[in-house]
Amino acid sequence: SSGELSTDTTIHRRQTRPIQVGNVTIGGSHPVVVQSMINEDTLDIDGSVAAIRRLHEIGCEIVRVTVPSMAHAQALAEIKQKLYASYQPVPIVADVHHNGMKIALEVAKHIDKVRINPGLYVFEKPKSNRTEYSQTEFEEIGDKIRQTLEPLVVCLRDQGKAMRIGVNHGSLAERMLFTYGDTPEGMVESALEFIRICESLDFRNLVISLKASRVPVMIAANRLMVKRMNELGMDYPLHLGVTEAGDGEYGRIKSTAGIGTLLAEGIGDTIRVSLTEAPEKEIPVCYSILQSLGLRKTMVEYVACPSCGRTLFNLEEVLHKVREATKHLTGLDIAVMGCIVNGPGEMADADYGYVGKQPGYISLYRGREEIKRVPEDRGVEELINLIKADDRWVDP
Ligand code: SF4
Repeated sequence: SSGELSTDTTIHRRQTRPIQVGNVTIGGSHPVVVQSMINEDTLDIDGSVAAIRRLHEIGCEIVRVTVPSMAHAQALAEIKQKLYASYQPVPIVADVHHNGMKIALEVAKHIDKVRINPGLYVFEKPKSNRTEYSQTEFEEIGDKIRQTLEPLVVCLRDQGKAMRIGVNHGSLAERMLFTYGDTPEGMVESALEFIRICESLDFRNLVISLKASRVPVMIAANRLMVKRMNELGMDYPLHLGVTEAGDGEYGRIKSTAGIGTLLAEGIGDTIRVSLTEAPEKEIPVCYSILQSLGLRKTMVEYVACPSCGRTLFNLEEVLHKVREATKHLTGLDIAVMGCIVNGPGEMADADYGYVGKQPGYISLYRGREEIKRVPEDRGVEELINLIKADDRWVDP
């Protein structure tokens, strides 16, 4: 960018083509899609069906599974059938590898999208002592990749299914490493090579991802990808993620730093937060990132002051109580403030406010208007009454 500061408070998402994945659309004007992956062995049909359902019920909109063998690929037919019969259609995606193209073709019959990793399509000899590839060799390998990939591309194209070209910084093919280095350029060129093969076969149901475990690399690669796609007139949606982010607080912060930075720039159409924890734990993080940026509103937005010496009640405890009572209400903003030091504007125009007033008493606000003053021990109950009186309450 030119370095000019934007004062625009709306995120303008990059224009992308809509890609259909089962009954979910990635890109176009559709909300940023949340995805994750089950840990179950795909051969465990009932376990996999239950896991997919569990994830979908808490908001995972596309579910990924692993398919290491032909038996796993065949199991997908049964998983899909049981899932649809006992629950509902959930878009499923699976990784496929070039040395299992037969498996890939079987997988493509049963699911909505396949993910390929260009770095695994290696035809160079491993541990070769070479340090460079000639243009001819580079192109010869490109031809082999094309021949290998073609049946899968044609199969997906003819069924109207999708493909993710998922480049990982940690697994770039040797000739990309030697030609472009271990860099965002190498990642982008690797994706472009596969995009061109797909386009030459008239297949454009593509989603692109460039993941890295280092946040600055992942950010730079996606920014460069967008720049290159713009130059080339390509409008494929992007799938964002930070690989090997780890667990706990740092895993969440690391994922948010990478994914959130790009989303704030309008880049990204689907996200996955990869935590070394149960996949169920990834979904709330995805939705929190999207909600905090104003990209999706799926829960109550709580505005709360950090508390200080002026605080008249135990703010942490009250916020917890208010949250427990109201967290099932979507689309509301609720403020919990220790006091009104600088006026109700500090509540960021929340729909309702719970504000410390004098020892033992709190005030309830609707927008900027003070509605009533009540003893602190009745605060949460009266807040609920106020929301009910406004007809904005639903039972949990
Ligand atoms: Fe302190 Fe009041 Fe500010 Fe909360 S709103 S941090 S209690 S001054």
